[in-house]
Amino acid sequence: MVMDKLGDSLQGALRKLIGANRIDENVVNEVVKDIQRALLTSDVNVKLVMDMSKRIKERSLKEEPQKGADPREHVVRIVYQEMIGIMGKGATIDLKPQTIMMVGLQGSGKTTSVSKLARWFQKKGLKPAVIGADNFRPGAYQQLKILCDKLNVHFYGEEGETDAVGIVKRGLKEIEKYDIKIIDTAGRHALEADLIAEMEAINAIANPDQKFLVLDAAIGQQAGVQAKAFNDAVGITGIIITKLDGTAKGGGALSAVSEINAPIAFIGTGETPDDFERFDADRFISRLLG
Ligand code: GDP
Repeated sequence: MVMDKLGDSLQGALRKLIGANRIDENVVNEVVKDIQRALLTSDVNVKLVMDMSKRIKERSLKEEPQKGADPREHVVRIVYQEMIGIMGKGATIDLKPQTIMMVGLQGSGKTTSVSKLARWFQKKGLKPAVIGADNFRPGAYQQLKILCDKLNVHFYGEEGETDAVGIVKRGLKEIEKYDIKIIDTAGRHALEADLIAEMEAINAIANPDQKFLVLDAAIGQQAGVQAKAFNDAVGITGIIITKLDGTAKGGGALSAVSEINAPIAFIGTGETPDDFERFDADRFISRLLG
């Protein structure tokens, strides 16, 4: 899994501080350089890495270690705080009726994530329903319908209909009584003008409580640019990062949050409906730092 590699590198870097009995500038420089390399390898944005490593170095040397903390614990604490600063604390998801709009590029894992999200709410005891408004990708209707049927999730779609806004309008009426209304929008190859216009129109009529951007973990340095474009169009409230099980380059997507100030809501860690978890920054980063 992606983060295993980053975790190994970070833990390896921090291991250099074991046995040190004081914070020594040379050792700190060495550790920070290793941390820098690890983050760059996993594709965290270059500028973020540079800013962050500068702060880790300064703070490690300047700040007093907490009472009883050895040099390693002192630096780990600072690295941890700086990483939370980049990845954010994670989103708050209310367990109450709401409308969620899903956006993302084609192939990002959006359709799969729609069904995973429905399942997640279902397991929390809420009744989800899905509207399939991706009439752009051939096969999207069938794919989503099959996924929802398997999970016993109510699905609304209109196969062959070209007006996505109309589908959403009629769909919202049809699924009115459900707690969680999830709208799958057309995946995009790139952010083309007509598809942005469609996304804006759906956003205007559905007035969703949450607008989740689905990002493939392997997107790398493009993550920030893409997140910004989607955010400018509809205002992203949370990010879902998929395929964290399949890449060593998840850092780009993980650090996209700092670009648009939207928290990471969920992560996808496999192809089955249950390979989906809330992003808990504390746990995630603690695991990375060992
Ligand atoms: P869409 O075009 O964005 O709707 O993408 P799909 O939902 O069809 O997903 C594209 C491919 O990625 C499919 O083969 C999914 O099974 C796969 N996929 C989605 N999420 C994950 C994940 O978290 N892990 C893995 N390994 N595969 C995923």
